[in-house]
Amino acid sequence: MSIEVKNITKVYKDQKALNDVSFKVNDAEVVGFLGPNGAGKSTMMKILTTYIDASEGTAMVNGYDVNTNKKNVQSSVGYLPEHNPLYLELYVKEYLNFNANVYGVAKSRINEVIELTGLTPEAHKKIGQLSKGYRQRVGLANALLHNPDVLILDEPTTGLDPNQLVEIRNLIRTIGKEKTIFLSTHIMQEVEAMCDRVIIINKGEVVADKYLQDLREGQEQVVIVEFDYRVEDTFLLRLPQVTNVKNTYGFVYEITFSTKEDMRSHVFDFAHDNELKILQLNQKNASLESLFRELTN
Ligand code: ADP
Ligand code: MG
Repeated sequence: MSIEVKNITKVYKDQKALNDVSFKVNDAEVVGFLGPNGAGKSTMMKILTTYIDASEGTAMVNGYDVNTNKKNVQSSVGYLPEHNPLYLELYVKEYLNFNANVYGVAKSRINEVIELTGLTPEAHKKIGQLSKGYRQRVGLANALLHNPDVLILDEPTTGLDPNQLVEIRNLIRTIGKEKTIFLSTHIMQEVEAMCDRVIIINKGEVVADKYLQDLREGQEQVVIVEFDYRVEDTFLLRLPQVTNVKNTYGFVYEITFSTKEDMRSHVFDFAHDNELKILQLNQKNASLESLFRELTN
């Protein structure tokens, strides 16, 4: 078990931010912690990384207790805070080098994390010269320096433009093949794009804990596709098992299929056959959307 939260309550002076929260995260899972702003996500993540203490209850991270074994918890987790305070005047390597010294990490690891996070082409620049997407990579590289088993990422994709978003999602997915990732977001689509499981939090309480696979079962399927050019809705209705086509904005279409089978490859073939380019292609989970709305309203 990578993370086990047991009856955690957190009270700030006059406000209860977490109320008797319990959940578990298994090894090598990518779990989304989904909730509206103010739900208590960052508070939980600060407790799991030992930045703050819970008022009541405890949590085990990698088998270590956050209340009594902080040092071992710290060496087990990599943390990307919500507003990652990067030093804009430092060069990427200077920043990572400084933190490698602080953590007592071998210098050879710096180039490893640079490569792992796709930073190589930007590694010689000052952090201040980098785009938001690349700054997030620096934050991820930093979180990975001491090669922790568990990564805790607080809103890792917030504020990124659509291209950066896709790149960081892919990177997180790749890292998630080897590590346990617990990431927060207030955007449902981020959970669909990256996670195996979702824990929904609202007003300091866990209101749902589900595997996305289970949510998808028995549902119609909605695929969101963006082409590089306009396509007639009627044209898209020629796809197999289509029940509905909606042009949501620009060249973005929501296509509903009456099947559980992943239809993205059919959409891809369709685009190829008709000489269209695909700019984005995602499965939308109709069921998660309604669950989230219902539980957080
Ligand atoms: P989220 O990350 O889900 O947006 P937070 O964990 O940041 O939520 O905050 C949960 C609640 O606790 C909010 O109402 C917030 O205003 C409050 N809160 C967070 N940090 C503090 C603090 N240091 N002092 C007082 N209240 C806080
Ligand atoms: Mg937050």
